[in-house]
Amino acid sequence: MKIGLFGGSFDPPHQGHRALAESALDHLGLDELRWLPAGRPWQRQHRLAAAEDRRAMVATAIADRAAFVLDDRELHRPGASYTIDTACELLAERPGAQLFLLIGEDQLQRLPTWHRWRALIERVTLAVAYRGAMREPPAELLAALQPEGRTIERLPMPPFDVSSTEIRARLAAAHSAQALAPHLLAPQVARYIDLHRLYATHP
Ligand code: ATP
Repeated sequence: MKIGLFGGSFDPPHQGHRALAESALDHLGLDELRWLPAGRPWQRQHRLAAAEDRRAMVATAIADRAAFVLDDRELHRPGASYTIDTACELLAERPGAQLFLLIGEDQLQRLPTWHRWRALIERVTLAVAYRGAMREPPAELLAALQPEGRTIERLPMPPFDVSSTEIRARLAAAHSAQALAPHLLAPQVARYIDLHRLYATHP
């Protein structure tokens, strides 16, 4: 069984996340793709929306795709969210599963700062999507991330120049999420944001 792990703060989930997930599903032939909202992302600076809101936004963003699964285990885990813990749990739950860790290129560059990253890349295949400007990571980093002939999968998708930061900034300035273009934010997520008045004051 091929399982995709897609972690993020999803604050809010946007169409770049969706494009990455769709590309991974098709390109990697995944049986399921687990969206994992991070409980307390240990590298985050800004104050996150409530866990329950981020969970609900991911749920509504993926409801139309049976292969997309909301996995909220990191929201229930006390302390910081570490991907290595999630990977180990899933391998124990699904012996023999092949795990793919889906990440944007910005996160690939930072992966060597992650908790127990070497243990992590022994357990997952990295699948990377480029964001915005295409930059090839430094050769030493690529070598470190591909030990013993392992390869990083590239997800074929056009660069999708959208981030949660940009959406939060636009919402702080403009008020209505539903007025944002649907190529940035899915309409059902926009409705949730407006209904719950998220991001009006905290860009
Ligand atoms: P923020 O702006 O708050 O930092 P973000 O838009 O980067 O948020 P995250 O929830 O942190 O969103 O991202 C989760 C994962 O999705 C990360 O691996 C990130 O690299 C990837 N990702 C986010 N946006 C895109 C995008 N537009 N294209 C490709 N990958 C993306």
